[in-house]
Amino acid sequence: MGFYERLRQFMMGRYGGDSLNTVLSTASFVGFIAGMIGRAAAPRSVAGLIICWVLYLVAFALMGFSIFRTLSRNLVARRAEYEWYRSHIKAPLQKRRNESKIRRAQAATHRFFKCPKCRQTVRVPKGKGKIKITCPKCGNSFVKKS
Ligand SMILES: [Zn+2]
Repeated sequence: MGFYERLRQFMMGRYGGDSLNTVLSTASFVGFIAGMIGRAAAPRSVAGLIICWVLYLVAFALMGFSIFRTLSRNLVARRAEYEWYRSHIKAPLQKRRNESKIRRAQAATHRFFKCPKCRQTVRVPKGKGKIKITCPKCGNSFVKKS
């Protein structure tokens, strides 16, 4: 039996990888590297030593959690973790990235303001002077220079 066949059998019924595990192992790797750079940069600092060991511990814990998730047979719990991560971290970040992309694309013709009352982003055409903006979400009005 070849290596991949054995690996496939070992992984049968286990959770495997997802993008949360990718984030966990990347964060762990960054933590180890940051700790090593810190040790090299300030080898005699006691505070630096403590910070570096905290980094190593966190990195080690993240790595352990990532490996635990990959090998776990409790698929329901792992999917629930992933769903939490997707709705609380991944989706909001994606939304923010998309919004700033749209803003950059329309920066020449439009200005973007946040409603002071409900934080809704409001888009107005550029170069119209001082205008009264009415928030489409909460109906609050505010004056801005377009
Ligand atoms: Zn509003």
